[in-house]
Amino acid sequence: MTEANATRHTDIAVVGGGLAGSTAAAMLARAGHDFVLIDPDVTYPWDFRCEKLEEYQVDVLRQTGLADVVLPVTTPIERLWVARLGRFSRPYTNHQFGFHYDQLVNRFRAQVPLDHFMKGKVASIAASGDRQTLVLSSGQEVSARLIVLATGPNHSLRKSLGIERNVTSPCHSVTLGFDVAPVGRPKFDFESLTYFPERSSEPISCLTLFPVRSDMRANLFVYRQARDPWFAKFREAPVATCLAAMPGLSRFLGEFEITGDLQIRPADLYETTGYRRPGIVLVGDAFASSCPAAGTGAGKVFVDVVRLCNVHIPNWLATAGMSAEKISAFYDDPEKRASDEHSKEKAFRLRAATIDRNLRWHVRRVLKSTTTATLAGFDRALSTLRGAKRQPHTGTTPQPTPPPSLSR
Ligand SMILES: Cc1cc2nc3c(=O)[nH]c(=O)nc-3n(C[C@H](O)[C@H](O)[C@H](O)COP(=O)(O)OP(=O)(O)OC[C@H]3O[C@@H](n4cnc5c(N)ncnc54)[C@H](O)[C@@H]3O)c2cc1C
Repeated sequence: MTEANATRHTDIAVVGGGLAGSTAAAMLARAGHDFVLIDPDVTYPWDFRCEKLEEYQVDVLRQTGLADVVLPVTTPIERLWVARLGRFSRPYTNHQFGFHYDQLVNRFRAQVPLDHFMKGKVASIAASGDRQTLVLSSGQEVSARLIVLATGPNHSLRKSLGIERNVTSPCHSVTLGFDVAPVGRPKFDFESLTYFPERSSEPISCLTLFPVRSDMRANLFVYRQARDPWFAKFREAPVATCLAAMPGLSRFLGEFEITGDLQIRPADLYETTGYRRPGIVLVGDAFASSCPAAGTGAGKVFVDVVRLCNVHIPNWLATAGMSAEKISAFYDDPEKRASDEHSKEKAFRLRAATIDRNLRWHVRRVLKSTTTATLAGFDRALSTLRGAKRQPHTGTTPQPTPPPSLSR
């Protein structure tokens, strides 16, 4: 064996440098641990993933101790307009952050010293209650006390270890990502907007519009099968297809165009089984996926990594061995469990609230639209009494923070 591919010994091997792996590696670097981060790409490439952090997710991000270094690559959003059924809109004070996924991940990566990064793909793992051996596709070996498996949806390594993926909801939702721009005006009248479709028959969770640098980014969350011809129609005539599904949108956007590339990404909901093993811990999407429409994936990643790096890894390294019982403390962590449960529950609840034809959900939709219409009438009457001009951006009254169900 040459010196270049001599076995590298370390305490922790983080496999996969997406949001979970890069955040974990940056935290381990800060804490002075002996670790390596292994990923095929030195720089995380552009990818259509999470593009907005909600306020509660930033609260968890702060617990990584890295918020101050990563938030500067995001675009802060102060005011969120919420439109329901095309009839009601009001601005809320809400601190969200828009970004391109690769820029956020690479900001975490920048906190990892170069000599702690190994470019490559892990081809195989032999795990035990003592030391773990990883072999990269180049043949390079790594020996570690602990493996943090952060390989996202890629199933091959998990499968080779006998960890199974159980798809609980195939094509649970489909997310469309694109940029929008106003026609004939320099900017829109809102800073960010969450638009819920006016017709309950539309299989759309919502459309979110938010700034990322100088662009207005759009994420549209729909419940359709991946092969639905509606997606081809959307590609051919995006603005017309958007307006056919949400006619009231033009009231808020005026004339607009869809610019740049259109991304369409279906998402399966899956969980893993057989993950309680010695020497290996699964985090982020490697453990379980989330529904983009629910907007819980990044929060789930941060909770995993915060609990792992702040609590469990220091405990595990303090004593000899890396048994399955030790590792189980992470999966049984009440904060992790609550975060996973919240993500799962929200994914199914939102889908049912949008498309479930069951009487209970139908009644809920009718009640919601009736309440919205009543509030819209009340809002109009109030505006008339005050002689106020109904333009969302002119409101000066302090507004409440939106309830979590609205804060998409
Ligand atoms: C379209 C879309 C929109 C979304 N929108 C939102 C949202 O609005 N809000 C929200 O909170 N969440 C959202 N999510 C979810 C969120 O993006 C994910 O939960 C999060 O990105 C998962 O990060 P991760 O690090 O676990 O996985 P990834 O980012 O996929 O990282 C996995 C890494 O592992 C590497 N890897 C894989 N195999 C190997 C190997 N054998 N060896 C070495 N490296 C390997 C890959 O190269 C990659 O770098 C969205 C997801 C999608 C798909």
